[in-house]
Amino acid sequence: MRILLFGPPGVGKGTQARLLAGEFGIPHISTGDMLRAAVTSGTDLGRKAKAIMDRGELVPDDIMIGIVRDVLSSPAAARGFILDGFPRTLPQARALARLFEELGISDYRVLELRVDDEEVVRRLSSRLVCSRDGTIFSTLTDKVSAGAPCPTCGGTLMQRQDDREETIRQRLQVYHSTTAPVIGFYTARGTACEVDGGKPIETVHAAIKSVLAAKTPV
Ligand code: AMP
Repeated sequence: MRILLFGPPGVGKGTQARLLAGEFGIPHISTGDMLRAAVTSGTDLGRKAKAIMDRGELVPDDIMIGIVRDVLSSPAAARGFILDGFPRTLPQARALARLFEELGISDYRVLELRVDDEEVVRRLSSRLVCSRDGTIFSTLTDKVSAGAPCPTCGGTLMQRQDDREETIRQRLQVYHSTTAPVIGFYTARGTACEVDGGKPIETVHAAIKSVLAAKTPV
């Protein structure tokens, strides 16, 4: 199974991708997670990417295409994958089409999770992440606050730099102007399906599973 997962920031792509990856036994490839890991370990890539990510802008296409080329060509991705956060621009989508051709991949599914912008702002501006184990909490539902200890491991709860309201709105603007046309690229090829991402996690997961089952799985 090969899945390209689209949706605005905060729609729950990471959560849904992790569930599917566990069920299908395939890797969850998140370009955002890869960049954040590079930032944390202070690599060249991380240093270049940090300021761009903090502004809610996109890391240059050539860098992202190189990263994805390496990971998709690796044996770990040979039996399938869930790509979360790539492609985000038309040049990335065209590069991915060329890479699929080189790798002999013709069967893949494209899923778009949808949710409205104000719900994104509400979800992300209340999101806190444990700096030690990465667990995600919400100030709306979890009785937690920034700087407080993580209820599960005692690490410090932090707000992601790019989860500040102004940056969330910038990321949404980039999504609508630059990434939405990429979905059009796949719709034109008849491969894209929509799922309502505004529902509870289990409901969205069930909807994704039924969309995947509706056509012959690849
Ligand atoms: P995400 O966790 O997917 O929302 O990604 C966080 C940030 O990483 C984005 O706001 C971008 O700055 C950067 N990023 C992730 N994937 C890409 C990509 N495919 N192209 C360019 N920038 C990316």
